[in-house]
Amino acid sequence: MNAPFLAENCQIALEKKGSPNYSKLSFPIHCGVFTEVTSNSFVLHFNLSGEIIRAKGKGEEWGHPHEWLKRTMGNDWVYYSTGGYTGVFEAIGEYYLPNFAYPSNNLLGGHPFSEKTISGLINSWHRILTELSDDADDAPEAVRRFLTDALANTPACLAEKAKKLQAIIGGRISVLPPDARHVDYNLIPLTIARGCLHKCRFCKVKNAIPFGTKTPAEIADQIGKLKNLYGADLPNYNALFLGEHDALQAGGDLICFSIQEAYREFGFAQSHIAEHKTFLFGSATSLVNTPEQLFIDLEKLPGMYYINIGLESADQETLDKLGKPISAGLVEEAFARMQDINDRYGSIEVTANFIMDEDLPANHYPAILELIREKQVHSKPKGSIYFSPLTFNQPSRARLFEFNRLKVLSRLPTFLYIIQRL
Ligand code: SF4
Repeated sequence: MNAPFLAENCQIALEKKGSPNYSKLSFPIHCGVFTEVTSNSFVLHFNLSGEIIRAKGKGEEWGHPHEWLKRTMGNDWVYYSTGGYTGVFEAIGEYYLPNFAYPSNNLLGGHPFSEKTISGLINSWHRILTELSDDADDAPEAVRRFLTDALANTPACLAEKAKKLQAIIGGRISVLPPDARHVDYNLIPLTIARGCLHKCRFCKVKNAIPFGTKTPAEIADQIGKLKNLYGADLPNYNALFLGEHDALQAGGDLICFSIQEAYREFGFAQSHIAEHKTFLFGSATSLVNTPEQLFIDLEKLPGMYYINIGLESADQETLDKLGKPISAGLVEEAFARMQDINDRYGSIEVTANFIMDEDLPANHYPAILELIREKQVHSKPKGSIYFSPLTFNQPSRARLFEFNRLKVLSRLPTFLYIIQRL
């Protein structure tokens, strides 16, 4: 990074080096390489393509100096709050609580987007930058180039780019795996299969598309288009999401092909981010049916692999009530396979989701506790269990209390699943 450019009203630090690791710390750290524009009243961050990625206010009007806004590649603004630090880390495994402007199943958090300071910064960052650029006539060439790029990336252009992303991968990703929190959801999505196997009645994130895989040629084409779209900012990524809802069902050959092709084309080995990570969803059916060879092959590839399985319940009455057309026996079998894989493969972590709601059949939680407590001889550091509240936009103290009880009893790392889209 060169010395920051100092204008009358602001400071511009080009290509500032953030952390190469997504560490879980109680103060905000920002990863990768970004340009920082600071004035007396705000801080704006831009990626290597000159697109705004973070913003925060300064001074008393801004809720907390550690809280900030992040813009995703899907062009959503997410507000990261401390949640008063009360139990946020214990509940979600992260120090900062993401708040969304769209409906989610979060049990914690408030309504930050209704606050004028926050919505005001989202609506005014481009005007602020335009005003600043008027004072930067004598700035060095590199600073003027950055300002030209950043100003060309207007809110309308960024919205258009998000649409292009959706067009490439076949639509908006309605949900990312909970494990994506390990890279703050900064990943490149690659659709290797559409739809899912079960079309469960309760599920709010499914689509009507029958399960089907993409061909290697379609995947290679998608990778080429994604490479162009992410462009100069590619080095800020070292994580991949294999979509959509059950990529594990796509089979070992297609999964390994996609991972290797993406790794090479996206240049992950040269990323500013240290460790490569791949995320995908699976189902009880695909996990049980996956030949051992896939896990042997993944272990030989670089990085960590996180496979998240939607089990929902281990109680037949609950599965029936949810309209999830699988048996409790299959859930138990999938759970046993999950433990086996987690015990034997250092670079693979299989995690599982169970639902939370009021008025579930009486055996729902006892059946889960049988798996996450009684069947575990001792506590394990790996194989996270995520509890996903069924209802959206209904923070609930009763559910939180219920979750805390399950977390205390569980012998596996246990967290809340906050549904986040891309
Ligand atoms: S829970 Fe999973 S398998 Fe069931 S409908 Fe939703 S995405 Fe499909």
